[in-house]
Amino acid sequence: MEDIIFKAKIIEKNENKKGKYIILNHTEFYPDGKGGQLGDRGTIDSSKVVKVDISDNKIFHFVDEFPSAKSNKEVTCIISGERRRNISIHHTAQHILSGAFFNLFDIETVSFHMEENYCTIDLSTPNISQEEIEDAEELANKIVMANVPVRKYFVNKEELAKLPIRKKHAVTGKTRIIEIPDFDISMCGGTHVNYTGEVGVIKVTKYERVKKTFQRIHFTTGINALKDYQNKTKILSTISNFLTTGENELIEKIKNLLKESKHLQKETVKLKNELLRYMAKDLIKESKRIGKFDVLIKEIKDYPKEDIIALSKKCISEKPLLTILYRKDNETEIAISKSDKVNIDLMELKEELSKRFKVRGGGNNKFLILQINEDEGFKEFILDFIQRN
Ligand SMILES: [Zn+2]
Repeated sequence: MEDIIFKAKIIEKNENKKGKYIILNHTEFYPDGKGGQLGDRGTIDSSKVVKVDISDNKIFHFVDEFPSAKSNKEVTCIISGERRRNISIHHTAQHILSGAFFNLFDIETVSFHMEENYCTIDLSTPNISQEEIEDAEELANKIVMANVPVRKYFVNKEELAKLPIRKKHAVTGKTRIIEIPDFDISMCGGTHVNYTGEVGVIKVTKYERVKKTFQRIHFTTGINALKDYQNKTKILSTISNFLTTGENELIEKIKNLLKESKHLQKETVKLKNELLRYMAKDLIKESKRIGKFDVLIKEIKDYPKEDIIALSKKCISEKPLLTILYRKDNETEIAISKSDKVNIDLMELKEELSKRFKVRGGGNNKFLILQINEDEGFKEFILDFIQRN
């Protein structure tokens, strides 16, 4: 579609919190958001139109910078034909897809939203099946391929009353009608293509329930749909190559992999448990008598915090013991646990440690997990505490 060029006079040049705007004595720029549609873009003299708003029946053309022309002077306005055409394709596709859901299943479209590369419609149903969506998508594409004219005309109140409109809403004065013969008649003031074939293709890409009452259908059209298809083909063939599996066998393959991974996770937990039990049996041999208690104090390298906690608890289940296991990372992490028979107050130990070091963490009288900023001397400090008890 060629760019639309028209002349107009500036009647207001001003700025509000949304930015710099121009109001013209007349305009052909379609505003953003009207009828769910995106607005036109283009230029007013050398200024770029970045957004078009409608408010109090006035059209605000937001521009990157003001044109040099003063108020009441004539300016040349250019609307991007390519963008207008893309928007028209999206919008016409919406009529066709909404018409398909209505004709097949009596499902109404309650709202429509347009983005640059895709659109959404909200359908008046909380539930819809994949098959129903595919049926509507197929019917919509048959209408596209039939390349029937998209009729645009105005009717008065009496004529409007006689028309089988898909979704009626209150209007005053003349009403603009968009008709796809023998398929769909809608009231709409937006921009549309002249023949359904111009839409190219309509592809539903996603659907989801919203607000528990609607189904939101995401769809894309024409070149955008082709790009989406190209991207999905690329993703699918990459996964297919990774897994050295044909595309049609991928679902089964991934299901099996997930099952296997779950099984392996369970196995790993079991083996880890076993390993820690053996480690504990070995470690307690290194425990020494300090004061009244058997004490194991040892650095455990290359194991995560969770394992050290588990190991510490396993040690005391093997033998009446006080264990202090620690690992050094950015700070020193210490797991302290004791058997019931070891009569020492761990909360008091924590309190004394806190007086001497910067300590975080906590626990109870049976188990402590602490982080200490500096590690110099904490071992000696704990051993001294044990001897005093
Ligand atoms: Zn429309």
